[in-house]
This record gives sequence, structure tokens and C-alpha cells, in this order.
Amino acid sequence: MNARPDLHPPAGTGPLIALSDVRAAYGRITVLHGVDLSAQPGQIVALLGPNGAGKTTTLRVAAGVHPVASGTVMVGGRDMTGARARDLARAGICLIPEGRGVFPNLSVRDNLLMMTFTGRSREEIEEIAYSRFPVLGQRPGQPAGTLSGGEQQMLALARGLATDPAVLLLDELSMGLAPLVVGRLYDQVAEIARDGVAVLIVEQFAAAVLGIADHAAVLVRGRIERAGPPDSLRTDLSALYLGSSV
Ligand code: ATP
Repeated sequence: MNARPDLHPPAGTGPLIALSDVRAAYGRITVLHGVDLSAQPGQIVALLGPNGAGKTTTLRVAAGVHPVASGTVMVGGRDMTGARARDLARAGICLIPEGRGVFPNLSVRDNLLMMTFTGRSREEIEEIAYSRFPVLGQRPGQPAGTLSGGEQQMLALARGLATDPAVLLLDELSMGLAPLVVGRLYDQVAEIARDGVAVLIVEQFAAAVLGIADHAAVLVRGRIERAGPPDSLRTDLSALYLGSSV
């Protein structure tokens, strides 16, 4: 069952999400100065950059949570510039914000059951979550706040998957986690992408994300300073970051 067949085209048929020349501001301060970024079905695009570069704002614009001042946001070939967040969510855009999108006082199961608003049954949502993340299936009754940081991120991902996303926007998935845990989460993200989901992943420091990315871009002061195959960016990263710290 797939509610959005048009948003799950085979690879190579065009981007599922495309930001073109996007500008965005907070009040009178412009923080994105013409960002171009896109992700194809099954593609993992890493957006790196120093503190305050505008990475989170880029994801918020893509999810319709922050307004576009100019430029366009295309989803599955449709111009959705200025669309409301809930319409973009219906179109298959799923944002997992920084800081673990889970309710700490609710159990693992209740965190998942809240996602039945998507129209999926609780059985289906739990099946998707527990098959992808067996460790969650072992502790359905545990309060989410007592899970490890990595497990909380798994739960956040599982909640996102319940929406049957075409595009997954991940903000600092690795924040505060040990490298081994991050590696396992990235493996899961790679598997999700293999199912045809376009993934846009923001990280500040984790050059490790380049290991799973198909394409990478470095945002500095609201501008994409470099973009290309992940390996081509690795060596430039520290120079770009240091150069921006003034
Ligand atoms: P970080 O890694 O620190 O989250 P980032 O690259 O994600 O950085 P953004 O959070 O998008 O950057 O912030 C971009 C710029 O916009 C920064 O200069 C920040 O101070 C500013 N900014 C972010 N949120 C707001 C807000 N709610 N009001 C005003 N300015 C904001």
C-alpha cells in the first residue's frame, strides 16, 4: 500500500525535493542567500557546515516550517513554494528535528501509537518500527526518556517512518552520540534510502556522514560554498569551517 505512488518514482527520474535559489530570513536578517539543494529517490545528501551557517533553517524551509523569502521548493516535480507544513507533510516530507523527536515520559509503544494519525494501524506502525529497530521491540513499555541516546534517535526515526516519507530531513542525528552508535544509525539511514526515500541529512561536525552520503554540500554563512561527491569535499572541510569562524 502506498498513498503517494507519484512520489516514489524509480531512481533517476528527477529529484523528490529541490530547493532552488532559496533565500530565507529571520525578521530583517537574511540567513540563506540563494541555496540550491536537491535529493533524488534513494539518494543521501549530506549538508555540512559550521555553527549558524543556516543548515537547520534550510531543513525548516524544506519542511515548510520556515517561510521562503524567494526561490522555489519543488516536491516530486510540483512547485510547493510557500505551502504549509502540513501540506508538505502530506506530500511526503518528514522532518526529524535536532534533539530527538520523542516524548520522554511516554513509553516506546505510546510514542509510536501517536503516529496512527497518519492513517496506519498500530500493528503496522509497530511492525515497521520493530522490524527496522529490534531493540525497540524488546522494550515497548519503557519510557522513551530512559532509552539511550541512540535508541531515542531510532525511535524518532521509527516515528518518522510511520508517515511513509518520500523525503526524510534529518537534523544532527549524531548529536551527543558515540561514534559506534552513530555508525549504526547511519547504517539504518542507508537502508531507509535503499527503499527509495530521499534523505537530506544535516551534520555540523560528523564528517562520518560522508561515508554514507551520495552527494555532499557545505553551507557557510547561508551560501553553498562547495558541493560534489563526498570524497572531493573531505579535504576542504576544515579550511571551510576555519575560514568561517571570523
Ligand atoms: P547550528 O548548527 O548552530 O544549529 P545551523 O547551521 O543549523 O547552526 P541555523 O540554526 O539555521 O544554523 O541558523 C542560521 C542563522 O539564523 C544563525 O545566525 C542563527 O543565529 C539565526 N537564527 C536561527 N534561528 C533564529 C531565530 N529563531 N531567530 C533569529 N535568528 C535565528
